[in-house]
Amino acid sequence: MEKCNIEQIVEFIQKTFNTKEFIPLHEPRFIGNEKKYLNDCIDSTFVSSVGKYVDTFEQEFAKKVGAKYAVATVNGTAALHISLILAGVTKNDEVITQPLTFIATCNAISYIGAVPIFIDVDLNTMGMSPNSLKIFLELNCEIKNKQCINKTTGKIIKACVPMHTFGHPCKIDELKELCDKWHIVLVEDAAESLGSYYKDKHTGTFGKLGAFSFNGNKIVTSGGGGVIVTDDGTIAKRAKHLTTTAKIPHPYEYVHDEIGFNYRMPNLNAALLVAQLEQLELFLKSKRELAKLYEGFFEKIDFVDFVKEPKETSSNYWLQAIKLENKEQRDRFLEFTNRNGVMTRPIWRLMSELDMFASCQKDDLKNSKYLQDRVVNIPSSVRV
Ligand SMILES: *Cc1c(COP(=O)(O)O)cnc(C)c1O
Repeated sequence: MEKCNIEQIVEFIQKTFNTKEFIPLHEPRFIGNEKKYLNDCIDSTFVSSVGKYVDTFEQEFAKKVGAKYAVATVNGTAALHISLILAGVTKNDEVITQPLTFIATCNAISYIGAVPIFIDVDLNTMGMSPNSLKIFLELNCEIKNKQCINKTTGKIIKACVPMHTFGHPCKIDELKELCDKWHIVLVEDAAESLGSYYKDKHTGTFGKLGAFSFNGNKIVTSGGGGVIVTDDGTIAKRAKHLTTTAKIPHPYEYVHDEIGFNYRMPNLNAALLVAQLEQLELFLKSKRELAKLYEGFFEKIDFVDFVKEPKETSSNYWLQAIKLENKEQRDRFLEFTNRNGVMTRPIWRLMSELDMFASCQKDDLKNSKYLQDRVVNIPSSVRV
């Protein structure tokens, strides 16, 4: 019975994408000014880290998300790394995040020599649970000299990095309130949530800093790329400085005033990205239409729950997701769909279960574990 239903799902997805060939999880679409801007960029010879497309992108992006400043970076991980440095995270500090995320969040924390603490997610948003965060802080932490001290380790909890999973906004205003109360700097991993709003405010603009990614699989892509957004002019300036090898601007002299990073986005990538950004509204519309189709279809399949945008949010529906009833069923679903040319993928293995982070502090992670066993992403490409 269930087997024939999985077959029915494969047929529906093939019909929806109008093909019997292999259907990837998410492929980019280049149907705007991409080639035009890339040609222009090559003709200009400014293909590297200086050029008008980087500037245009930064201005357009800040406007799009409603942030005062945007600083382009070489990828989303670099954007997170610099954001955490600018949030004041230093070696041996602790940073709260969620176990249900892509590895980049924890890598960025680790590059600084800081240590993650894992707080459970809400079932409906798949993002950090304000309730779990509150309980953890009240149970384990105290405020001393305007710093949040973890009583178990004696270390400072400097920052908190929630993530908007697959584009669905988490309860970011409640998280912000808690962070403010506990003197923790809020940094949003908004890598997946360009075009997603929480109560009409764009994700990534609630925290002191927000990081986005433009990797090949994201809603818009620059091949590889990222961006940091902030409303703080001093921080934006520092972000540009640190990502540009901390070089003091000068027409010909090379002087650097600290150890910086070569984290700038090349103009070539920015050219592609400016063209992609022009099509964001079109992509968002297509993804919302796809979500509606999936939602309607899965209503009839009783062992599948389609993941809908949380209340009071507008999701970009970057990666469409469903919840199956248990792990065994999920495994059968993954096996059957992938064998039949429909790419599907389980949600990430929890960060807290990876060797590098196995000894990190965490709460019971009940919801994260539940979701880990059941959530699967299904084909989500823009259909135009
Ligand atoms: C894509 C992604 C990043 C950044 O990835 P890059 O490949 O470095 O651009 C960070 N966090 C999450 C949750 C992501 O999905």
